[in-house]
Amino acid sequence: MGDLKGNFVKLQELKNIDISGKKVFIRCDFNVPVDEYQNITDDRRIRSALPTIRYCLDNDCSVIIATHFGRPKGGYEEEYSLKPIAKRLHTLLKTEIKLAPNVICDETVKMANDLENGEILLLENMRFEKGETKNDEVLSKTLADMADIYINDAFGVSHRAHSSVEGIAKHFDIKHKAAGFLLASEIKFFYHIIKEPKRPFVSIVGGSKVSGKLEALYNLVPKVDKIIIGGGMAFTFLKALGHDIGNSLCEDDLIPEAIKIMDEAKQLGVKFYLPVDVIAADGFSSEAFAKATTIQEIPKGWMGLDIGPATSLLFAEALEDAHTILWNGPMGVYEMDKFAKGSTKISHAVASSYATTVVGGGDTADLVRKTGDEDAMTFISTGGGASLELIEGKVLPGVKALILE
Ligand code: AMP
Repeated sequence: MGDLKGNFVKLQELKNIDISGKKVFIRCDFNVPVDEYQNITDDRRIRSALPTIRYCLDNDCSVIIATHFGRPKGGYEEEYSLKPIAKRLHTLLKTEIKLAPNVICDETVKMANDLENGEILLLENMRFEKGETKNDEVLSKTLADMADIYINDAFGVSHRAHSSVEGIAKHFDIKHKAAGFLLASEIKFFYHIIKEPKRPFVSIVGGSKVSGKLEALYNLVPKVDKIIIGGGMAFTFLKALGHDIGNSLCEDDLIPEAIKIMDEAKQLGVKFYLPVDVIAADGFSSEAFAKATTIQEIPKGWMGLDIGPATSLLFAEALEDAHTILWNGPMGVYEMDKFAKGSTKISHAVASSYATTVVGGGDTADLVRKTGDEDAMTFISTGGGASLELIEGKVLPGVKALILE
């Protein structure tokens, strides 16, 4: 495995360490969406961690699970309690889930000490502890003291240096910590896609801003055969090319960077696609007056909120010969039906291609679920920010400690 810039590194994996009969601390990412009645609306993140949990149970381990959930302010809040998650875990695993009263308190520590082989203890929401996001030393050590083995299976937070993700791992030697099955598969998948893609390799990049994806763009250009830019970020590139983009989203200070990226693509022979038309609106609202227009004719004061029909056809055609497609970021303001057509068409085009298709980013994952194309994608990453950082070529803080020398 590598750090995506080509440096060879190997990850310690769960199947390669001896966990038999041990107490295992598993950091999961159970930050699932819930409705107003606290019903889990999508339990994919819980289901994807089950192989790791089951493997530990099959090896007679006692299992302590930790996760964050929502954004509590740093103390116990009933709204962010893991009760619904404990219930869903119970339904899925068909075994009792002991829910600790808090993250760390005397009773939790006692529950962890008393935990027997085959039993599961779920700690309360990690973000109830202020020290979690500060990577607090004492918290990291207290969590580490609860177990013999540390497993990170939380790809979605592995780009964060938090106590239960990064700090805790320092307290275990490499024979007593590892990447869980989910984490290992996400990292391997992204690594192979970037390092050894079947060509043509096409990357679709969208979303609101260039700034959030600048590093990713720099890292992608030398690796892909084609790059397709949509969403709000396209307008900075279009303005850089001299187009009048009206009130569309634009980061003027990044115009020089946009030019640099396009120049590099040109030099490397990478085909660079930008929208040729847009759905322009007279305001950022689903009530706004909207029409399709070419890039050359965006009315004064209007803004492009989706790619237009000609662009959808153009992009779909550019995807036709792809053998690998990496997609991160919607083509427009897909949350509003009026501006979701472009993203929907691209979703269908990606889904119906014969390529290996990888979708990364929370919005894009949400989008392909809405368009019904989810099952047709080869791989949908559970972590938006983390997958972006991998594409940027970074070693994630939560993964660093699991690398074999
Ligand atoms: P990001 O978090 O950078 O991936 O951006 C995702 C967001 O970009 C979504 O919430 C979209 O509504 C937004 N977006 C996509 N296209 C546009 C656009 N043309 N103008 C403004 N926002 C956009």
